[in-house]
Amino acid sequence: MREPVIELSSVSRSFPAEPPVLALQDVSLRVEWADYLAIVGPSGSGKSTLLNVIGLLDRPTSGTYRLDGIETTSLRDGARTKLRGSRIGFVFQSFHLLAHRSVVENVMLAEIYARHDRKGRKRRALEALDQVGMGHRVDFPTDRLSGGERQRAAIARALLGKPSLLLCDEPTGNLDSRNTAAVLDLFDQLREQGLTIVVITHEDEVSTRAKRRVRITDGVLTEE
Ligand code: ADP
Ligand code: MG
Repeated sequence: MREPVIELSSVSRSFPAEPPVLALQDVSLRVEWADYLAIVGPSGSGKSTLLNVIGLLDRPTSGTYRLDGIETTSLRDGARTKLRGSRIGFVFQSFHLLAHRSVVENVMLAEIYARHDRKGRKRRALEALDQVGMGHRVDFPTDRLSGGERQRAAIARALLGKPSLLLCDEPTGNLDSRNTAAVLDLFDQLREQGLTIVVITHEDEVSTRAKRRVRITDGVLTEE
């Protein structure tokens, strides 16, 4: 049997302050392969802290986190960075694309820090762009794309390392409803291909499309 992609056990994260901020309190969460999870909750409730822990950008103060069956809390920084690069793709509200570069160049930039062979870089970028339905826009400068196309290019960039997990922080926050629908359709397709998706969102339109929904309130997670 396949290990869960995400397995958080009693994870807490506190930030030093007077008094300390308990951003996550005893959070346990299991996300299976090809699951599609929405995380909702008010501003300041701990959503980004949770995403940072899941994305190996931050460490819990206590508790354990297994990613694809690998216990991560005891790993050194280098091993965590390597694991993040091979398993996780990130998508943000602002697309973080370079304006005067073409779509395919932007996607290829995702590999600058990865140790892949340079020769296949363009081919892999073109494949990722095909996967998100952007094959016809590869030579466009990104500042001539619509918002939805920009987010699809950013998703292609996130897919380049063939991650098992896509972590999205308000991915449709800058999109109108038509482009939001297109991105949500793409998430459905990616999930059918076996990708596991976790989305932080304020929008009902987005969270109702996920298979599962959890809510964070004051650092405490509850399943809906
Ligand atoms: P959300 O993403 O749901 O808006 P966050 O996870 O960003 O919430 O923050 C949760 C709580 O932790 C907030 O009270 C925030 O002020 C606090 N917090 C987040 N990061 C830090 C930090 N680096 N240092 C101190 N407090 C922090
Ligand atoms: Mg946040």
